[in-house]
Amino acid sequence: MKIIFASGNKGKVKEVKNIFKDTKYEIVSLHDLEDVPEIIEDADTFEGNAKIKAQVIFNKYKTPVIADDSGIAVEQLNWAPGVISARYSGENATDKSNNEKLILELKKFPQPHFGKFVCCAVYLDEQNYFCEFGEVPGNIIYEPRGNNGFGYDPIFIPTGFEITLGEFPLDEKNKISHRSRAFNKLKEHILKVI
Ligand code: IMP
Repeated sequence: MKIIFASGNKGKVKEVKNIFKDTKYEIVSLHDLEDVPEIIEDADTFEGNAKIKAQVIFNKYKTPVIADDSGIAVEQLNWAPGVISARYSGENATDKSNNEKLILELKKFPQPHFGKFVCCAVYLDEQNYFCEFGEVPGNIIYEPRGNNGFGYDPIFIPTGFEITLGEFPLDEKNKISHRSRAFNKLKEHILKVI
Protein backbone atom coordinates (compact mmCIF):
# COMPACT_ATOMS: atom_id res chain seq x y z
CA MET A 1 0.00 0.00 0.00
CA LYS A 2 1.27 3.42 -1.00
CA ILE A 3 1.64 6.26 1.52
CA ILE A 4 2.80 9.72 0.46
CA PHE A 5 5.25 11.43 2.80
CA ALA A 6 4.45 15.13 2.36
CA SER A 7 8.06 16.28 2.35
CA GLY A 8 10.67 17.15 -0.22
CA ASN A 9 13.53 17.15 2.28
CA LYS A 10 15.88 14.40 1.08
CA GLY A 11 17.33 13.72 4.55
CA LYS A 12 13.91 13.34 6.12
CA VAL A 13 12.63 11.19 3.25
CA LYS A 14 15.55 8.79 3.66
CA GLU A 15 15.04 8.61 7.42
CA VAL A 16 11.28 7.95 7.13
CA LYS A 17 11.63 5.40 4.29
CA ASN A 18 14.08 3.55 6.49
CA ILE A 19 11.60 3.47 9.40
CA PHE A 20 8.89 1.93 7.15
CA LYS A 21 11.20 -0.42 5.23
CA ASP A 22 10.12 -3.56 7.10
CA THR A 23 6.38 -2.94 6.54
CA LYS A 24 3.90 -3.48 3.72
CA TYR A 25 3.78 0.29 3.14
CA GLU A 26 5.62 1.91 0.26
CA ILE A 27 6.63 5.48 1.10
CA VAL A 28 6.71 7.92 -1.80
CA SER A 29 7.79 11.53 -1.40
CA LEU A 30 6.83 14.80 -3.06
CA HIS A 31 9.80 14.29 -5.41
CA ASP A 32 7.96 11.31 -6.91
CA LEU A 33 4.83 13.34 -7.69
CA GLU A 34 3.85 15.87 -10.36
CA ASP A 35 2.07 19.21 -9.94
CA VAL A 36 2.67 19.34 -6.21
CA PRO A 37 0.47 22.13 -4.79
CA GLU A 38 1.94 24.95 -2.71
CA ILE A 39 1.65 24.34 1.03
CA ILE A 40 1.34 27.34 3.34
CA GLU A 41 2.21 26.36 6.90
CA ASP A 42 0.54 29.11 8.88
CA ALA A 43 -0.75 27.28 11.94
CA ASP A 44 0.60 28.12 15.39
CA THR A 45 1.21 24.54 16.55
CA PHE A 46 3.39 21.69 15.24
CA GLU A 47 0.30 19.52 14.86
CA GLY A 48 -1.56 22.30 13.03
CA ASN A 49 1.21 22.64 10.45
CA ALA A 50 1.68 18.89 10.00
CA LYS A 51 -2.09 18.57 9.48
CA ILE A 52 -2.10 21.35 6.84
CA LYS A 53 0.65 19.54 4.88
CA ALA A 54 -1.23 16.23 5.08
CA GLN A 55 -4.59 17.77 4.15
CA VAL A 56 -3.30 19.69 1.09
CA ILE A 57 -1.56 16.58 -0.26
CA PHE A 58 -4.45 14.23 0.52
CA ASN A 59 -6.95 16.58 -1.19
CA LYS A 60 -4.85 16.59 -4.35
CA TYR A 61 -3.79 12.91 -4.68
CA LYS A 62 -6.52 11.06 -2.69
CA THR A 63 -3.86 8.73 -1.30
CA PRO A 64 -3.00 8.15 2.40
CA VAL A 65 -0.49 10.73 3.62
CA ILE A 66 2.00 11.11 6.42
CA ALA A 67 3.46 14.52 7.27
CA ASP A 68 5.44 16.16 10.02
CA ASP A 69 6.44 19.46 11.52
CA SER A 70 9.28 20.05 13.93
CA GLY A 71 11.43 22.61 15.67
CA ILE A 72 13.22 23.55 18.86
CA ALA A 73 11.43 24.87 21.96
CA VAL A 74 13.30 26.54 24.82
CA GLU A 75 11.87 26.77 28.33
CA GLN A 76 13.33 30.19 29.27
CA LEU A 77 11.83 31.64 26.07
CA ASN A 78 8.34 30.36 26.88
CA TRP A 79 9.03 27.50 24.46
CA ALA A 80 9.96 29.73 21.51
CA PRO A 81 10.97 29.56 18.70
CA GLY A 82 8.71 26.48 18.27
CA VAL A 83 6.83 26.51 14.98
CA ILE A 84 8.89 29.45 13.69
CA SER A 85 12.23 27.64 14.23
CA ALA A 86 13.12 27.72 10.51
CA ARG A 87 12.62 31.50 10.25
CA TYR A 88 13.43 32.61 13.80
CA SER A 89 15.90 35.29 12.65
CA GLY A 90 13.68 36.59 9.83
CA GLU A 91 12.50 35.75 6.33
CA ASN A 92 16.04 35.22 4.94
CA ALA A 93 17.14 33.15 7.92
CA THR A 94 19.99 30.67 7.69
CA ASP A 95 20.96 28.00 10.21
CA LYS A 96 23.81 30.29 11.29
CA SER A 97 21.63 33.39 11.78
CA ASN A 98 19.01 31.33 13.66
CA ASN A 99 21.65 29.91 16.00
CA GLU A 100 23.08 33.40 16.60
CA LYS A 101 19.65 34.83 17.38
CA LEU A 102 18.86 31.98 19.79
CA ILE A 103 22.17 32.44 21.64
CA LEU A 104 21.63 36.21 21.84
CA GLU A 105 18.18 35.72 23.40
CA LEU A 106 19.46 33.07 25.82
CA LYS A 107 22.33 35.22 27.09
CA LYS A 108 19.64 37.30 28.87
CA PHE A 109 19.00 34.29 31.14
CA PRO A 110 21.19 32.21 33.48
CA GLN A 111 22.63 28.90 32.26
CA PRO A 112 21.76 26.08 31.76
CA HIS A 113 19.26 26.67 28.97
CA PHE A 114 16.89 23.73 28.84
CA GLY A 115 15.08 22.99 25.61
CA LYS A 116 13.78 20.20 23.44
CA PHE A 117 13.44 19.26 19.81
CA VAL A 118 9.84 18.39 19.08
CA CYS A 119 8.35 16.57 16.11
CA CYS A 120 4.70 15.95 15.37
CA ALA A 121 4.00 13.23 12.80
CA VAL A 122 0.48 12.74 11.42
CA TYR A 123 -1.35 10.19 9.27
CA LEU A 124 -4.39 11.07 7.19
CA ASP A 125 -6.66 9.10 4.86
CA GLU A 126 -10.37 9.22 3.98
CA GLN A 127 -11.50 7.79 7.36
CA ASN A 128 -8.58 8.21 9.73
CA TYR A 129 -6.49 10.93 11.27
CA PHE A 130 -3.97 10.48 14.02
CA CYS A 131 -0.93 12.22 15.39
CA GLU A 132 2.13 11.22 17.42
CA PHE A 133 4.83 13.32 19.08
CA GLY A 134 8.53 12.68 19.62
CA GLU A 135 10.88 14.80 21.71
CA VAL A 136 14.59 15.01 22.54
CA PRO A 137 15.40 17.00 25.73
CA GLY A 138 18.72 18.78 26.18
CA ASN A 139 20.61 22.02 26.77
CA ILE A 140 21.56 24.82 24.41
CA ILE A 141 25.19 25.98 24.49
CA TYR A 142 26.84 29.16 23.15
CA GLU A 143 29.73 27.71 21.11
CA PRO A 144 28.62 25.65 18.07
CA ARG A 145 30.31 22.25 17.81
CA GLY A 146 30.22 19.68 14.98
CA ASN A 147 29.43 19.78 11.28
CA ASN A 148 26.95 16.92 11.06
CA GLY A 149 23.21 17.46 11.03
CA PHE A 150 21.64 20.83 10.37
CA GLY A 151 19.65 23.64 12.00
CA TYR A 152 20.22 23.95 15.74
CA ASP A 153 22.18 20.66 16.04
CA PRO A 154 25.61 22.27 16.70
CA ILE A 155 24.36 24.15 19.79
CA PHE A 156 22.23 21.35 21.31
CA ILE A 157 23.53 18.73 23.76
CA PRO A 158 20.93 15.98 24.35
CA THR A 159 20.36 15.03 27.99
CA GLY A 160 22.68 12.20 29.01
CA PHE A 161 25.34 13.02 26.40
CA GLU A 162 28.46 15.22 26.32
CA ILE A 163 28.45 16.01 22.60
CA THR A 164 26.18 18.18 20.47
CA LEU A 165 23.80 16.68 17.92
CA GLY A 166 26.11 18.28 15.32
CA GLU A 167 28.85 15.94 16.56
CA PHE A 168 26.66 12.82 16.39
CA PRO A 169 27.18 10.55 13.38
CA LEU A 170 23.94 10.84 11.36
CA ASP A 171 22.92 7.21 12.01
CA GLU A 172 23.33 7.72 15.75
CA LYS A 173 21.33 10.96 15.67
CA ASN A 174 18.56 9.21 13.75
CA LYS A 175 18.30 6.58 16.49
CA ILE A 176 17.42 9.16 19.15
CA SER A 177 15.93 11.99 17.12
CA HIS A 178 12.54 13.57 17.80
CA ARG A 179 11.61 12.65 14.22
CA SER A 180 12.46 8.97 14.56
CA ARG A 181 10.61 8.82 17.89
CA ALA A 182 7.48 10.41 16.38
CA PHE A 183 7.55 8.32 13.17
CA ASN A 184 8.23 5.05 14.99
CA LYS A 185 5.16 5.71 17.16
CA LEU A 186 3.17 6.68 14.05
CA LYS A 187 4.25 3.47 12.32
CA GLU A 188 3.03 1.37 15.28
CA HIS A 189 -0.29 3.26 15.22
CA ILE A 190 -0.69 2.75 11.45
CA LEU A 191 0.14 -0.96 11.75
CA LYS A 192 -2.53 -1.36 14.45
CA VAL A 193 -5.32 0.58 12.73
CA ILE A 194 -4.85 0.47 8.94
P1 IMP B 1 10.77 21.36 9.62
O1 IMP B 1 9.72 22.38 9.29
O2 IMP B 1 10.22 20.21 10.34
O3 IMP B 1 11.59 20.96 8.44
O4 IMP B 1 11.83 22.02 10.63
C1 IMP B 1 11.75 23.36 11.04
C2 IMP B 1 13.06 23.87 11.61
O5 IMP B 1 13.29 23.30 12.90
C3 IMP B 1 14.31 23.53 10.81
O6 IMP B 1 14.53 24.45 9.78
C4 IMP B 1 15.39 23.63 11.88
O7 IMP B 1 15.76 24.95 12.10
C5 IMP B 1 14.67 23.09 13.11
N1 IMP B 1 14.88 21.63 13.24
C6 IMP B 1 13.97 20.64 13.04
N2 IMP B 1 14.53 19.43 13.24
C7 IMP B 1 15.82 19.67 13.55
C8 IMP B 1 16.91 18.80 13.86
O8 IMP B 1 16.84 17.55 13.84
N3 IMP B 1 18.08 19.40 14.14
C9 IMP B 1 18.24 20.75 14.14
N4 IMP B 1 17.27 21.60 13.85
C10 IMP B 1 16.05 21.07 13.55
